[in-house]
Amino acid sequence: MPQPTIETPTRPVRRPRRATVLEREQLTPHLIRLVLGGEGLEGFAAEEFSDHYVKLLFPPAGAPYGPDADVEEVRATLPREQWPRTRTYTVRAWDPAAARLTLDVVVHGDVGFGGPWASAVRPGDVIQLLGPGGSYAPDPAADWHLLIGDPSVVPAIAASLPRIPDGVPVVVLIEAEGPDDELPLDAPPQADVRWLRRAAGEPHGAALLRELASLELPAGRPQLFLHGEAGAVRAIRRELLIERGLPREGHSISGYWKHRRDDEAWRAEKAEWNRQVEADGA
Ligand SMILES: Cc1cc2nc3c(=O)[nH]c(=O)nc-3n(C[C@H](O)[C@H](O)[C@H](O)COP(=O)(O)OP(=O)(O)OC[C@H]3O[C@@H](n4cnc5c(N)ncnc54)[C@H](O)[C@@H]3O)c2cc1C
Repeated sequence: MPQPTIETPTRPVRRPRRATVLEREQLTPHLIRLVLGGEGLEGFAAEEFSDHYVKLLFPPAGAPYGPDADVEEVRATLPREQWPRTRTYTVRAWDPAAARLTLDVVVHGDVGFGGPWASAVRPGDVIQLLGPGGSYAPDPAADWHLLIGDPSVVPAIAASLPRIPDGVPVVVLIEAEGPDDELPLDAPPQADVRWLRRAAGEPHGAALLRELASLELPAGRPQLFLHGEAGAVRAIRRELLIERGLPREGHSISGYWKHRRDDEAWRAEKAEWNRQVEADGA
C-alpha cells in the first residue's frame, strides 16, 4: 500500500514542561528568536529529527489563570473553552548541555496567540510546552532534496540543511514578503537557495509556483520537504507530484497554517484537508 504523502505529526508527550524565556532577538521584521531554558527542559530529547517541534500553551483571553498554571488542574476543573490554546513551533536548535531551546516565531499581526506573545514576551517570562514531536530528517539515500516553505518553515529548513551531505543537489525555495525577511542559512556549498518575494495581495505560494515553473529538476529520486500555508502546499504538491510526476513516496509535506483560519479552526479541518489532498490526481 502506498505511504500517504501528507504527514500526521506524531503526538508529543502530554505532560507540559515549564520553561523560562532566557533571550529574545528580532531576527527580521517578521521573525523573532526566543531562547528558552530552565529545569523543566530536563530530559527534552530533540536530536533525532530536524523538524522537531513543541506545542506552546497559552491561556485564552479571560482565563482565570496565568502561563504558570497547573494545566492538569485547569483541565480537571475548568470548562474546555478555558483550557490553554496550543501553538506549534519548530525546534530551531536544542543544546542539551546548556538546556537551551531555540524557537523562531513568525509575527504576522496582532491576532492569535503565538505571534503576539513573541512580540511582547520578555526574558524571565514563563511558558509551558508539550513535546518534542517530530518525524523528518533529510534522507541520506535521496538523490536530491527540494525544501520549500515560507517564514514559518525557515526554522525547520535551517535545521535540516546542515544534515544534507556535501555534493547532494539541494534546492531551497522560500517565499517571504521582502529582502528584509532573508536570513543567512548554514547550507552545504552546493545548495541553490532562492528567496522569493510575495507581492502584496498575491495568494500564498504564487511566487513559489512561478519559480517552480522554470526550475529544472535534477535527475534521480528526490525527497521533498514542503510545508507552509495550506493552500500553497496543496498547489505545490499537485504541481510536483502530479503535473511533474515526481515519485509520491518518501516526502515530508503538510500545511503548517491556513490563511484566514486560526490554528483551532485549521486543526478542526485538517483531517478532511489531508484526505482531499491525498485524493488529488488519484
Ligand atoms: C509542525 C509545525 C511546525 C511549525 N513551526 C513553526 C515555526 O517554527 N515558527 C512559526 O512561526 N510557525 C510555525 N508553525 C506555524 C504556526 O504553528 C502557525 O502559524 C500558528 O497558526 C501561529 O499561531 P498564532 O497564534 O500566531 O496565530 P493563529 O491564532 O493560529 O491565527 C491567527 C491568524 O493569523 C494567521 N496566521 C497564522 N500563522 C501565520 C503565519 N505564519 N503567517 C501569516 N499569517 C498567519 C491565520 O491565518 C489567522 O488568520 C508550525 C506549524 C506546525 C504544524
